[in-house]
Amino acid sequence: MQRIGLGFDSHRFAPGRALVLGGVRIAGEQGLAGHSDGDAVLHALTDAILGALAAGDIGEHFPDTDPRWAGADSRVFLAEAIRLARERTMRVVNCDVTVVTERPRLSPHKDAMAARIAELLAVPAKCVSIKAKTAEQMGAIGRGEGLAVLAAVLLTDAA
Ligand code: MG
Repeated sequence: MQRIGLGFDSHRFAPGRALVLGGVRIAGEQGLAGHSDGDAVLHALTDAILGALAAGDIGEHFPDTDPRWAGADSRVFLAEAIRLARERTMRVVNCDVTVVTERPRLSPHKDAMAARIAELLAVPAKCVSIKAKTAEQMGAIGRGEGLAVLAAVLLTDAA
């Protein structure tokens, strides 16, 4: 059996926070507001896996009212989604991530992000796609108030 999942997340930029995207810290850029480390890429991926499993959403598994997740490393959330997939004897085949933001330019960071995500998902790096788009200066994202991420994943029966 194969199952597809779609995830979305958006966060505002916030002063005094480190920018972490796809598990990679990007120096010299404004970070993202959030109860956890604000890693919208890992949040969207987590939701995509949960979606493929029809297992609810990240907010149900990790409520932002729970002090345990204050400042949490978002890799914890993704690891839990992967654990749930394994529990159902499923594994990730590939993922495709689109980050919509005016800044930073992601091209210098895409390889590191893909490598980190591949490691977390236990897939080859060639099975992780990271794409970056701007919002063409339209709307809140276009004004640089925050960023948004879309993620799709395919799960299959673990061999
Ligand atoms: Mg989030």
